[in-house]
Amino acid sequence: MAVPFLDLKISDPVIRDEMVSTLSRLIDTNSFIGGMEVDEFGREFGRYCGGGYCVPVANGTDALVLALKAIGIKSGDEVITVPFTFIATAEAVTLAGGEVRFVDIHPKSYTIDPALIEKAVTPRTKAIIAVHLFGQTADMDPINEIASRRGLKVIEDAAQAHGAEYKGRRAGVLADAACFSFYPTKNLGGFGDGGAVVSSSETIIKTITQIADHGRMDRYQHAVEGTNSRLDAFQAALLRIKLRKLEQQNERRRSIAEAYNQALVNNAFITSPHIETYAKHVFHLYTVQTSHRDVLMDQLKQNGIGCGVYYPLPLHLQPAYARLKHKRGDFPVSEQLSERIVALPMFGDMSDGQVQEVCRFLKSFSPNCRTV
Ligand SMILES: *Cc1c(COP(=O)(O)O)cnc(C)c1O
Repeated sequence: MAVPFLDLKISDPVIRDEMVSTLSRLIDTNSFIGGMEVDEFGREFGRYCGGGYCVPVANGTDALVLALKAIGIKSGDEVITVPFTFIATAEAVTLAGGEVRFVDIHPKSYTIDPALIEKAVTPRTKAIIAVHLFGQTADMDPINEIASRRGLKVIEDAAQAHGAEYKGRRAGVLADAACFSFYPTKNLGGFGDGGAVVSSSETIIKTITQIADHGRMDRYQHAVEGTNSRLDAFQAALLRIKLRKLEQQNERRRSIAEAYNQALVNNAFITSPHIETYAKHVFHLYTVQTSHRDVLMDQLKQNGIGCGVYYPLPLHLQPAYARLKHKRGDFPVSEQLSERIVALPMFGDMSDGQVQEVCRFLKSFSPNCRTV
């Protein structure tokens, strides 16, 4: 049996029917951008995250840019984040007018190492973006403690962490503002682009709501120059339906992860992901480490099992950040990890048979003998 890395097909026919009839109803109501579905989705997603206000926007990258602008990032300001993340995290800093300053990740959590943050703070530092990578939150208490002592704002990049918890509280209410993406592959994914900012600060939410819609006060009265970053009604309506299933799907991801962990207990060549005691992990990705990556990926392929590498080259070594003049060795944890990681199949609708197939492979994998 072949097991894809990711399969986004809607497997529940009842849900699929509900989506089709919702779209059909929306076509007849001439709802395009914003409106009731978007407002309701914002309320429901904010409530889901633990009571923050929520502004739906066009995508996760915009969510980050808008949050940075709303906390006051401007030209010359520095924002601390990790080089081991999707490029959007760092791009958003530049797009907001600031400059990124990298800090390495912790070797176990794969999220920003709080012990390294203070050394990177300069008089120009204004904020920290904590990335909740692969579905596990960063260690927020020490991050928030440093930030409040040094007068910095903290933003969560929660694009991979819908529903993830830190000490019993969900991503979305763990810092000044949290940014989500609803790109189709995320734990809560739409049928196109989408994003949201969640925050407990009414001021931040009001600012973002305004700049995401051309700085409008009124139809043709503009308080400031803004941009166009709005969610459309189709995405919002479909996301509302999928949001009702998110807890169940995250639970399914955790049970798949548990099955993989069990299969790897006696495997000397593959290390399963570390789950922090503070965390409720939502396994956006299930990422293992191995010093035999080429062999592992080759054998997975021969067994028809999909896999991927997130991320093969840390941001500080990307041509896009050549201006920062970093070199190999600057962020050793990120560099080593990028050479050792492999993500295994993980999606909410994976069948028991598919999970068993991956487990069978993992139990017998050895870099020295073929497991086909
Ligand atoms: C997906 C992702 C984003 C960007 O989201 P888009 O909706 O694709 O713009 C930002 N940060 C991280 C960590 C992501 O995984």
